[in-house]
Amino acid sequence: MSYDKELAAAKKAASLAASLCQKVQKALSQSDVQWKSDKTPVTVADYGSQAIVSFVLERELSDEPVSLVAEEDSGDLCKDSGKDTLQRITKLVNETIAIDGSYSACTLSPEDILTAIDSGKSEGGSFGRHWVLDPIDGTKGFVRGDQYAVALALLDNGKVVLGVLACPNLPLASIAGNVPSENAVGCLFYAKVGSGTFMQSLDGSSPVKVHVSDIGNSEDASFFEPFEKAHSLQDLTSSIARKLGVKAPPVRIDSQAKYGAISRGDGAIYMRFPRKGYRERIWDHAAGSIVVTEAGGVVIDAAGRPLDFSKGRLLDSDTGIIATNPKLMPSILKAVRESLEEKPSSR
Ligand code: AMP
Ligand code: MG
Repeated sequence: MSYDKELAAAKKAASLAASLCQKVQKALSQSDVQWKSDKTPVTVADYGSQAIVSFVLERELSDEPVSLVAEEDSGDLCKDSGKDTLQRITKLVNETIAIDGSYSACTLSPEDILTAIDSGKSEGGSFGRHWVLDPIDGTKGFVRGDQYAVALALLDNGKVVLGVLACPNLPLASIAGNVPSENAVGCLFYAKVGSGTFMQSLDGSSPVKVHVSDIGNSEDASFFEPFEKAHSLQDLTSSIARKLGVKAPPVRIDSQAKYGAISRGDGAIYMRFPRKGYRERIWDHAAGSIVVTEAGGVVIDAAGRPLDFSKGRLLDSDTGIIATNPKLMPSILKAVRESLEEKPSSR
């Protein structure tokens, strides 16, 4: 399987979705942000991004069935209170797809938008092909004006075979050491099984192959973790970092932009330890994990097992995710085990 056609479609879908998100983020108002029943935010851009990706995949891959596992659904948009929001999303999506010459004759109706969003209801699983989408990963970062990502991956018989991460606010140059960068932003990472990981600018520069850090001494490593304290236990990660002798302070940014940054060696370690009982969603890790593994890295759960994307919409993993290079992984796992034994109540 080459997956070339699928990768081209995924890059086009994520890039167009990212341009919709950029436009919305520039002029975001409080009325653009709603709160879902799980108390996480959703914006017109989350819905618009999901509708665009669904539309582009259907168009570009018209000769194959497209099963899509995606975060959002149209429930709130179908209510009377959602009418204005739906109109706004419809306008945004039509303006965005018009940027791409090949779709200039297409105009989507509000009903088309609802159908496109709801095509993301697939349950995934271990057989056949399933696209996995987080239309805006890191919506809290997006609302704050910080990092976020459009994350799209393809599963084939339960394994991730390609992934694309569009990170509109990530500097093209390294963000190692938390140094504020004056450089241009907007990165598109993509990886295909067996072919490595590449990064190009969202403006379309020529791709460069990226590789994870080859640091073998954890004292020289720096680590990334979520910006949101509620998403990962920072006491636990700082205890692990202490055991490893890590000197640099953690780099805290939102979304799978962390996986992108690790894939090009900005830092050597990504650690994420949600509270015990939190079940990760496959769309929060599918694209990011292949971007790191194809760049020579390793991604595992807290028990040291590879991530299993084949069990439906939720990831079947022990709570906790670590991404790093193969040299550092054994010492990190040892430090993780020791820290968890010392502080069993921390989770
Ligand atoms: P990050 O910015 O790395 O924390 O990743 C953002 C993702 O964290 C979101 O897309 C959510 O799906 C996920 N998330 C939401 N709530 C939690 C939680 N309580 N613990 C861990 N992750 C969460
Ligand atoms: Mg997410």
